[in-house]
Amino acid sequence: MREALELAKKAASQGDVPVGAIVLNPAGEIVGRGSNTREIDNDPMNHAEVVALRQAAEASGSWRLDDHTLVVTLEPCTMCAGAAVQSRVERIVFGAFDDKAGAVGSLWDVVRDRRLPHRPEVVSGVLADESALLLSEFFKAQREHTISDVFELQVILISVSCPSGRRCNSRKVVCVQAHRGFKSHRYRHK
Ligand SMILES: [Zn+2]
Repeated sequence: MREALELAKKAASQGDVPVGAIVLNPAGEIVGRGSNTREIDNDPMNHAEVVALRQAAEASGSWRLDDHTLVVTLEPCTMCAGAAVQSRVERIVFGAFDDKAGAVGSLWDVVRDRRLPHRPEVVSGVLADESALLLSEFFKAQREHTISDVFELQVILISVSCPSGRRCNSRKVVCVQAHRGFKSHRYRHK
């Protein structure tokens, strides 16, 4: 889980929600590593678990990951819980519960549905506090960033007039972009 937490920190440093995952083979070796890369890769399916499972399948030369363990810092969502079942992992170990989207006991329990032929063992709450702290710090920083952006927008709207001499109220979006890149602003008003 420590390794998965380090991968989660890597995701945060790239602007992605901090979730990290690893896959262990039956010998206890790490054969897959993944961090959430949805933002950096523009891929809605690049959750940490999926990235780690793909790498593990490649390393083992098979999509079947029998006797493997998926370790992830946050309770898997429906997609990742499904991916864990599909890859036949033996065990899922996760950190913090996800009350809003968790599919391994919180909102749903996708992996232990009795109708499924394969149901992984689940171990939950491992280093949960550290995982949850990473997430809450990330979202707090995101909110502060958003508030500063809104403040910046308000300042621009009440004070700015364009270099062309025209007021910009009808071009609010252009003005916001202008504040971040003055060249493009001048170009747009020529
Ligand atoms: Zn997921």
